Amino acid sequence: MIAVPGLACPACRKELRTDGEATLSCDTCSVSYPVFDGIPSFVPLAPGGRPSRHQLSVLVSARNDGAPLDRVLAALRQELRSLAIDHELIVMDSGSTYGRTLRRGLEQATGEYVLTLDADGSHDPSFLHPIWAARTDAEVVIASRYVEGGSADMPRARRALSRMLNRGLRRGLSLPYSDLSSGYRMYRRAAVEALPLEATGFDILQEILIRMVAEGYRVREVPFRYQAPGRSRAWLARFAVSNLKTFGAMWKLRNSIASADYDARAYDSIIPLQRYWQRRRYQVITTMAAGAQRVLDVGCGSSRIIGSGRMVALDIVLAKLRYARRYGNPLVHGSIFDLPFKDATFDCVICSEVVEHVPADERVFSELDRVLEPGGRLILGTPDYDRWRWRALEWLYGRLAPGGYADEHITHYGRTNLGAYLTARGMTVDAVDYVAGSEMVFSLRKSAAPVAVVSPLPVAAGLRGARKEAVASGEPAS
Ligand SMILES: [Zn+2]
Repeated sequence: MIAVPGLACPACRKELRTDGEATLSCDTCSVSYPVFDGIPSFVPLAPGGRPSRHQLSVLVSARNDGAPLDRVLAALRQELRSLAIDHELIVMDSGSTYGRTLRRGLEQATGEYVLTLDADGSHDPSFLHPIWAARTDAEVVIASRYVEGGSADMPRARRALSRMLNRGLRRGLSLPYSDLSSGYRMYRRAAVEALPLEATGFDILQEILIRMVAEGYRVREVPFRYQAPGRSRAWLARFAVSNLKTFGAMWKLRNSIASADYDARAYDSIIPLQRYWQRRRYQVITTMAAGAQRVLDVGCGSSRIIGSGRMVALDIVLAKLRYARRYGNPLVHGSIFDLPFKDATFDCVICSEVVEHVPADERVFSELDRVLEPGGRLILGTPDYDRWRWRALEWLYGRLAPGGYADEHITHYGRTNLGAYLTARGMTVDAVDYVAGSEMVFSLRKSAAPVAVVSPLPVAAGLRGARKEAVASGEPAS
């Protein structure tokens, strides 16, 4: 686990004790907080899946057309023994479609990892070693024919078709991997088991990848030398049909805002306004934060701002944090309402495109204020609902992308009243910049001396459109 500066119990804000790698404990509250993949978590999650009884479950797809099952299994057992892997072998019933069979196999598996393979004699058992060695680097490891060191020993026409299919899926589904039709894969079971899988055919290979990426898990390919058995032409045809039939549904799933990499991909979006928006937001915020030493990004999502320098990044969605591991910054799974940090830990706090997604509540602002040191900078970005341009854009966006972010903006703020509110909290507005003339980004300075906030100001209506006097006098803005 990367050390997180200022980390504290969200309930009592006292020091936490490290219990090995897997938990943090608060002695005052007698509470333990779990650490997932190096990410301390202060948000209760649903209980985990079945306990592991083996290191590895091997799910073997048997062919019902006379494949050399016994020979394959014997070679596999020998290889597993020589690698000293504690395992179980599950031969999957071949009476159903590939997707249904695989799902049933996953339900049976009790290994910490699950390996899937075809018992058709198309592989040398030595493929196990690189795939097993990669288990700690990624939650999905694909034995790939099309990465360097891999090979596909099959007739030319068939190989050409296989490569074409793989390239089409790679581009069409924005899955940057070379071998999407390889059934030779290893998964971390706890991750794959939690996925709501629906595909019934060979399209399940794509569905699993899309959902794993959506959850922020890592995918890696290792080289695989493949020798095609005589009948793999039919396999390829069924693979193609299955994937073409469900391509639309897979595309929609891949491009959902729920996907962990959505914000990061928006930076390179082919939609000009979306690309401009992300890049401008990045530029405005990183400019305002320049020179800060101890930075916290609250509600970081998977946006590239996390990768712009040293900072602590917090989000309520664990999947986005799993994705953000690639930036190498300390990550915390927590809530804006109870920030798990000591008072005055940071000299700069970033909170962009967050406050419109949570209910109007004093605590949002008092928590951001609390973890900031006196004289520190708060960078607060949210759409300006006082501006017609934003309201028009949001209306349009809601119609073009139903189910998109527009529907999730539950609290609407306006510049005049939000500025007045923050000033009344003892902050100084140094600057306000805009993204596309719609999203306002405040650069605020916390007073160097303690400020008594006389009476908590109401934020009930999100401070939109109300008269300035109403806010200043503490009446509810309507
Ligand atoms: Zn505590």
